[in-house]
Amino acid sequence: MNLNIMRKIDELGRVVLPIQIREFLNIETGATLCITFENGELHLSKDRKPTMLRKVDELGRVVLPVEALRALNLREKSIVNIRCVDNEIVVRPSVPTCCICGSEEGLNTSLFERPICEKCLAKARQSSEVSKVS
Ligand SMILES: [Zn+2]
Repeated sequence: MNLNIMRKIDELGRVVLPIQIREFLNIETGATLCITFENGELHLSKDRKPTMLRKVDELGRVVLPVEALRALNLREKSIVNIRCVDNEIVVRPSVPTCCICGSEEGLNTSLFERPICEKCLAKARQSSEVSKVS
């Protein structure tokens, strides 16, 4: 599943797991997730060897372990990236990405509120010049 969604951590250290990922992995309210912390990422899965267990609430939220939040330097309103890899949900601190293609390289943040990479910027400039000509 090729999804990479940004979410904010709330005041209780919870993050809403995207509905697309919950449906894809068949995670329902009350499901227990095993949380492991490795390589600067949190891995949430239904059937891994548990290190920490958390239940998914009725709004699809899960409380992230405070130890992991500290280790990742995350707090309330921190933005995390959430993606689905194999049968796991992977949560990691957000890094800026291009708002069009998701690339992390060659970002330009001076033109718009959201970062855009040089390649997408060039494409946008090209197509606006084409539309001016025609
Ligand atoms: Zn781009």
